Amino acid sequence: MALLSVKNVGASFGGFIALDDVSLQLHEGELLGLIGTNGAGKSTLFSVITGYIPKRSGSIEFAGEGIDNLAVHARVWRGLARTFQVPREFSQLSVFDNMMAAAPGLRGEGLLSLFLSPRQVAREEQQAAERVNDLLTFLNLAKVAREPAGKLSGGQKKLLELGRLLMLEPRCIMLDEPFAGVNPVLIEELSLRIQELNGRGMTVLIIEHNLEELSRIVPRMYVMDSGKVIAEGTPDNVLSQDLVREAYMGG
Ligand code: ADP
Ligand code: MG
Repeated sequence: MALLSVKNVGASFGGFIALDDVSLQLHEGELLGLIGTNGAGKSTLFSVITGYIPKRSGSIEFAGEGIDNLAVHARVWRGLARTFQVPREFSQLSVFDNMMAAAPGLRGEGLLSLFLSPRQVAREEQQAAERVNDLLTFLNLAKVAREPAGKLSGGQKKLLELGRLLMLEPRCIMLDEPFAGVNPVLIEELSLRIQELNGRGMTVLIIEHNLEELSRIVPRMYVMDSGKVIAEGTPDNVLSQDLVREAYMGG
C-alpha cells in the first residue's frame, strides 16, 4: 500500500500552471527520487503535499487518510516532514540549540508549563537533549554542537536540517535538493546517512535536479517537466526514455 498517494494534483500561481495533473505513489519503506530541471515544479509539489501551498484540484492521502484539509502542523504530526531547498537554520543559535528548537511538544516555555511540575519539564528537556546528542553523533555533527549554526559549511547545514527533521520522529521525510551546494565528501556522507535511515525503515522522497547523483542511490524515480510527470521507473528505464532526454537536453 502507498504511504503517500498524490492523485491528479493541479496547482497554479496566478495564471501560471505550476502542477498539471500530477500523480505519484510513495510506498512505505521506499527510497524514491523525484527529478526534473529547474522550474519543473518539484518544490511546488512538496509544498502542496505538506500544505504550504493550496492545490487547485486532485487529492492527497497519507497513511490511508485524506490530508487535503489539514494544516501544515497537522500533517507534520501525522509524520510527514520536509526540508526546504535553502536551509532554514537559526544562524546565531548553536547547532545543539537548533536541534532542541525542533523538538516537538517541549512545553518548558509554553503557558502549559505553569501546570506542569518543574521536574516534568526537566525530564522532557532531558529526553529531547539525549535525542539531540544521538542524532548529532549519527550525523557526524557532535564536534560542532556548540558552534553557531551560521558558521557551518553548506553541507553541514544540510546535515543539521536533516537532524532537525528527524527530531520530529517522522514516518516519511521529504528532502528538497539535499546535495545542492554540498562538497563531494559531504555528499557521500549525506547519501550514506539517507540510505542508512532508509535501511532502518524510514520512507524517503528526494528531490534532485542532478540525474546522475540521484540515480546512484534510488531504485525508482519520477521525472517532472513543465509541471507534469513525464516518466517513472528505475533510473535505467527512465534515462532511456526520449521524453526525459529531450527535457534534459532542452530539445
Ligand atoms: P523546481 O523545484 O522543480 O525547480 P518550482 O516548483 O520551484 O520548480 O517552480 C515551478 C514553477 O513555478 C517555476 O516556473 C517557478 O518560477 C514557479 N513558482 C514557484 N513558486 C512560485 C511562487 N511562489 N509564485 C509564483 N511562481 C512560482
Ligand atoms: Mg526546487
